[in-house]
Amino acid sequence: MDLQVGLIFAVGAMAGSFLNVCIYRLPRGESVVRPRSHCPKCRKPVPFWLNIPIISFILLRGRCRSCRSAIGFTYPLVELLGGGLLLLVWTSYGLSWTFLHYSILVLLLVPITFIDLDTKLILNVLTLPGIVVGFLAALTLDSISVVDALAGMLVGGGFLWMIGLVGKALFKKESMGGGDIKLGAMIGVFVGPKVLVALSLAFFLAFPVILVGFTLKSLRRDSVLPFGPFISLGAVLVICFEESIYRLYFQLLATS
Ligand SMILES: [Zn+2]
Repeated sequence: MDLQVGLIFAVGAMAGSFLNVCIYRLPRGESVVRPRSHCPKCRKPVPFWLNIPIISFILLRGRCRSCRSAIGFTYPLVELLGGGLLLLVWTSYGLSWTFLHYSILVLLLVPITFIDLDTKLILNVLTLPGIVVGFLAALTLDSISVVDALAGMLVGGGFLWMIGLVGKALFKKESMGGGDIKLGAMIGVFVGPKVLVALSLAFFLAFPVILVGFTLKSLRRDSVLPFGPFISLGAVLVICFEESIYRLYFQLLATS
């Protein structure tokens, strides 16, 4: 049991280590395979024994071994997140096809979230292959039917597309980017029609942030709030806490 916990965390943290490479290189249009890991400042390659997730960061005290420039805190954070997310999915599904199925999705959501926070873009290079992988998973793993995956893609993408149309008519500006729509479609392929619950949660979570943003004047009418992180969080919540969400929802309905 404990060995399993350690192994799953380690696999997630190693995946996180690769996701760091994606987060840094994909927005710059660089290859994620070549060259090998190197310091972005002095370009010195990182030896494999200093490429151990989280531990290397602690051993190096957050600095490059050669030039001593600081390594961002996002690196160990993404590695921790990779391990933590896999454990979270494992707690709900155990070692099963569904675990594998949802693990692919939650790991995909990590670079999407961090790149969106950084650049306010949701990259096609992540969502479009994500949609394909989702369908391949539906075809091969015994976790979701292809019909559900297709329905999820249509309602997930379609819902955000319609919100975008309404937003454009109301505020006379682009309110839902094409990247968000493709992300909604991608999540739908993995979770099926309950993607609508994830998207509703995303709006529910974004609302207080927008409210606080406007009150503190850090958001203006023309500012862009990256919505990808909220959609991703909504998806993780639906995957791992579906039952509790419904229970909470019906309790709220009953008391109102
Ligand atoms: Zn360096």
